[in-house]
Amino acid sequence: MIPRIQGCSELKNNCSLKVKDVLKEFNADGRLAKYRHGECIDEEGFRLFLKTYLEEEDFPAELCQRLFRSFQTSESDENSGLWEVFLKDVSCYFSLLEDGQPRDKLEFAFRLYDRDGNGVLDSSEVDRIIAQMMHAADYLGWDVSELRPVLKDMMTAIDADSSGTVSLPEWVEGGMNNVPLLVLLGLKVTQKDGQHLWRMKHFNKPVYCNVCQNMLLGLRKQGLCCICCRYTVHGRCANKNPAPCTRTYVMSKKETGIAVHDWVSGNCDSGKCDRCQKKIKSLHGLTGKRCVWCHTLRHDECANQEPFICDCGTFRDHILSPWAIYPVIKVTLSLEDLPSLCDDNELNTTPDGQVLRINPIPDTHPLLVFVNPKSGGKQGERVLRKFQYLLNPRQVYNLSNGGPGPGLCFFRDLPDYRILVCGGDGTVGWILDAIDKCNLPVRPPVAVLPLGTGNDLARCLRWGGGYDGMELGRILKDIETSSVVHMDRWSIQVTLEDSQERGDPVPYEIINNYFSIGVDASIAHRFHTMREKHPQKFNSRMKNKLWYFEFATSETISASCKKLKECLSIECCGTQLDLSNLSLEGIAVLNIPSMHGGSNLWGEGKKTDRANQDMPEVIVDPEILKVSPQDMSDKRVEVVGLEGAIEMGQIYTGMKSAVRLAKTSQITIRTKKPLPMQIDGEPWMQPPCTIHITHKNQASMLMGPQAKSGFFNLK
Ligand SMILES: [Zn+2]
Ligand SMILES: [Zn+2]
Ligand SMILES: [Zn+2]
Ligand SMILES: [Zn+2]
Repeated sequence: MIPRIQGCSELKNNCSLKVKDVLKEFNADGRLAKYRHGECIDEEGFRLFLKTYLEEEDFPAELCQRLFRSFQTSESDENSGLWEVFLKDVSCYFSLLEDGQPRDKLEFAFRLYDRDGNGVLDSSEVDRIIAQMMHAADYLGWDVSELRPVLKDMMTAIDADSSGTVSLPEWVEGGMNNVPLLVLLGLKVTQKDGQHLWRMKHFNKPVYCNVCQNMLLGLRKQGLCCICCRYTVHGRCANKNPAPCTRTYVMSKKETGIAVHDWVSGNCDSGKCDRCQKKIKSLHGLTGKRCVWCHTLRHDECANQEPFICDCGTFRDHILSPWAIYPVIKVTLSLEDLPSLCDDNELNTTPDGQVLRINPIPDTHPLLVFVNPKSGGKQGERVLRKFQYLLNPRQVYNLSNGGPGPGLCFFRDLPDYRILVCGGDGTVGWILDAIDKCNLPVRPPVAVLPLGTGNDLARCLRWGGGYDGMELGRILKDIETSSVVHMDRWSIQVTLEDSQERGDPVPYEIINNYFSIGVDASIAHRFHTMREKHPQKFNSRMKNKLWYFEFATSETISASCKKLKECLSIECCGTQLDLSNLSLEGIAVLNIPSMHGGSNLWGEGKKTDRANQDMPEVIVDPEILKVSPQDMSDKRVEVVGLEGAIEMGQIYTGMKSAVRLAKTSQITIRTKKPLPMQIDGEPWMQPPCTIHITHKNQASMLMGPQAKSGFFNLK
């Protein structure tokens, strides 16, 4: 049995190298060629494979050894003293665990073992692939005793003529029709009507199969469970025509507005029947029914009785019910009607190519949910799955599956809806940009479920600094009581002094949070916390930024930023800022009162009732600045000066705030030498230039309700 590598798959999500890239290193001209002996690699070669693939320097030696042993077969000649494993077995195994399409994985595995490239594998070679599939399933915590017969059946079916060989088309075709195998290979799901969204699940209580009605057996009670309707089957039963998944839309406009329960049998956990108020006993198999939308429970015999009307339960305000969605014949719209974002999207069409439309339900605010599954480790995927269960899967969009365009297009004609973005600040910025570009008739307000760390925007909108696994139902309830606020967004335009000079590309054209030049509170701090918190990220995704941090923490930057005021000038609405009495090492332009995970550079200020129109375009008088509060909707940015590393440490720990320099509706900064800069936490190195920051627009955001004690993660 293979040891489970804790965090290994999360690790892989952030890495750039694919198995096939690592494999190339073992070719004759590759960096690791000398560790390959024919078809095999030795233990050192295996260690280097892991190191290269996972981009992880300190992979535990003991774990590496155990993993290596798990690849040894009777074919590896132990007696000769040569401890080796087959390179293709290792490659096949890791490619199965990788991100990607099942079809590609099946093909990759096939080609790996098709040594002579004749497009045919003999049965022993296919057995080897299957052995690696079991290996991978085992790693993922599956009980492989059930998968083995499923795969055996598949092989019998594939090799119809019993020739003992399998061609690539036969192999791929067989694999693509095998539901448990597809789940194992990480089927990327697009919601087709009637098709369950399967995932492998273990239960800690007795559960019955919706197809054969028998109990899920085995120590781990493993089964395939639909993410949307919780229909549950044995792995083997998933291939036996299970009942279709719940409908996510009605068949015609006439049927819209007819709200009826949608029952799925079984697994009612001894709950109470909503009709007769008696307990539903589930001792004898598949008993009781649960409504997919309102989650009401009934006895089998009570389900056919009144009331039939489904009110969508606790989350009715958020749910886009099936009876609000209907198909229409596809009509080609003119270019103006169809923003480029929505090109050929398959997500909002029926299997026969009709386009889905929404008929609004009065007094509801359907929630359009965008999830960035790559945010916050595996948290994103979990959140995606839970929302697909709590709401209609047609209102929950996976951003790695076509971006925000399809969702925004689908909802665009609704008069009243809200958006929930699940991801980091960068994801929120992406959605706000998409809303700008989509030319929507109404700009829906946006709430944030912060995934990962350092979410400044989410934090100051009272959605917390990072999702801590709290029940999503409570977050939905908080959204109902949230209030709309306007948030300024700023355009930043960077013009090079010398157009020949080449710096890094400027990361964004829009500032949502903040912009800074020179040393700022983050640099040293971020370097250390990043390293402690995400060593693996630091080795891969952050690798290209490493030089920046090294530079930032070295003496060089400190020295080069010491005389910052000599190499830049700042003009606010035509007024030149006087920097002569300050020892500046950094400048920050703030839109929101949180930076780098919660430090407040402007500092506290009493909120005044002064109307915005009274406010001058620019304030530089220190006495007035002293009493000016920061506000994300006043069409002004706050400009602060940062004096040095020690002061920054104090700012970070909340002991001090930075020097207030101005509050302005426009700012122009000219620099005379290359300086490090950052927008919303994305750093880059910028050659001499002129920077213009001007007001772009206001985004409609949702501010979470006032914190009840201990409820929000405000740290
Ligand atoms: Zn079954
Ligand atoms: Zn289903
Ligand atoms: Zn219902
Ligand atoms: Zn009943």
